[in-house]
Amino acid sequence: MSETLAPVKPGRLIINGEAVEAASGATFTTVNPATEEPITTVAEAGAEDVDRAVRAARAALEGPWAKLKPIDRSRALWKLGDLVLAHADELARLETLDNGKPIFESRFVDIDMVARCFHYFSGWATKLTGDTTSVNPGWFTYTLREPVGVVGAIIPWNFPMIMVGWKVAPALAAGNTIVLKPAELTPLTAIRIAELALEAGIPPGVFNVVPGKGRIAGEALVRHPGVDKLSFTGSTEVGQHLMRTAAETLKKVTLELGGKSPNIVFADADLDAALRGATAGIFYGKGEVCAAGSRLLVEKPIHDEFVAKLAERAKKMQPSDPLDPKSRLGSLVSKAQLDKVMSYVETGVKEGAQLVAGGQRQPVNGKGAFMQATVLAGVDNRMRIAQEEIFGPVLSVIPFDGVDDAVAKANDVMYGLASGVWTRDLKKAHTVAKRLAAGTVWVNMYNFYDPGMPFGGVKGSGFGRDLGEACLQEYTQVKSVWLNLE
Ligand code: NAD
Repeated sequence: MSETLAPVKPGRLIINGEAVEAASGATFTTVNPATEEPITTVAEAGAEDVDRAVRAARAALEGPWAKLKPIDRSRALWKLGDLVLAHADELARLETLDNGKPIFESRFVDIDMVARCFHYFSGWATKLTGDTTSVNPGWFTYTLREPVGVVGAIIPWNFPMIMVGWKVAPALAAGNTIVLKPAELTPLTAIRIAELALEAGIPPGVFNVVPGKGRIAGEALVRHPGVDKLSFTGSTEVGQHLMRTAAETLKKVTLELGGKSPNIVFADADLDAALRGATAGIFYGKGEVCAAGSRLLVEKPIHDEFVAKLAERAKKMQPSDPLDPKSRLGSLVSKAQLDKVMSYVETGVKEGAQLVAGGQRQPVNGKGAFMQATVLAGVDNRMRIAQEEIFGPVLSVIPFDGVDDAVAKANDVMYGLASGVWTRDLKKAHTVAKRLAAGTVWVNMYNFYDPGMPFGGVKGSGFGRDLGEACLQEYTQVKSVWLNLE
């Protein structure tokens, strides 16, 4: 792993296959939240740069990308998946430096998911077809499934490189080109993967990256008339703003927003498995996970014993240096995020919840945005800590009484992203899965993802799907062709 010690080179915009400075010359510094030290500088895109990137994406869409046979598009995407694996150590290190997540997660979970996205969607490039239809014997009617055009993708800081896989792989497989704006806190891996895309033979202009501020670079992408579709992952508030703004140019929009996902443990569950699932469901990724099982609903007969064991497990999860391969709880993404999460812990205690584990900041080597794995018990579903997305390692435990009460509490929230059910009773598992208002239900497992399974939300968690065959609907449009043979 000697390359992991190399200094990080400054990040630049990737426009039309070239690494360039911003037109204004502006740069920003990206900081390691675990050490509070600068990692490197990154070119900061403004509206002019976004315009250049969109024009490059348009030219590629109508030029080299459209001329490539689907099988060659497929090969290039597969190769990009291979290159991600070949650069696994380098990419994982960049991700951990930028985001503060344990290197174990970046290297062994995130890298694998990114590579699988490119490998999985490469297969779809040759399998997108239209239909022939029978409308009238004297006519020949058929549909063509075409790319939507130039995609603008805006992504958050919690899974920076996974989000590149989720957005770029299907968009390109379907023949679109893309301009991607990474989150300002975590721009490094998107830039590096765009460089690898060129190495993989993806033509210049097909995959552009414009790091910068949401309200400048992001806003410019949302307003640009040359962008046909927006794929956004981020907060509900920004998602709403984006949808209103995109209405002006009538862009196709998909939104993957926040969550407050219920993880429901019934008394008949395999309690050891449920305990592991509840812990990983909230503390994986420092709880900065849109699908985090942040509301743990526990059936009353097992409630007290379960909470005691949970608190014991949480206390054992000590924050540590994210670059240490043994670390399982890294640094939150920033001091600002840590302040926000800590203020929720205070709110919870004021609202009457009991702090049974954690609840404190815990710097590592005197620095960083680290905090303890935190469990708040005795939570009422109406409390703010049960209703609002905290986006940190904080679990709210809510007791319940039977199936109807579990479902009512689970659904009584503005979000509907994910959910978990722990039970040995198959009938109960399927019935509850059907009644939960969520885009994903995990039964006797939590926080699992695969490029072949769609992911997205209902209600305040947004609409449209990433991943799976379902997401290709979002990246294609249907054209009807009528031919008069008479
Ligand atoms: P955010 O909404 O603040 O930012 C997301 C992205 O939007 C960033 O790239 C940001 O620069 C950009 N942005 C901000 N303002 C903008 C504007 N006015 N116009 C255009 N772009 C703008 O969210 P965040 O703080 O980066 O990420 C955390 C949030 O993302 C959480 O709420 C989390 O639940 C959500 N999230 C959802 C999913 C999902 O799949 N549903 C996945 C990950 C994160």
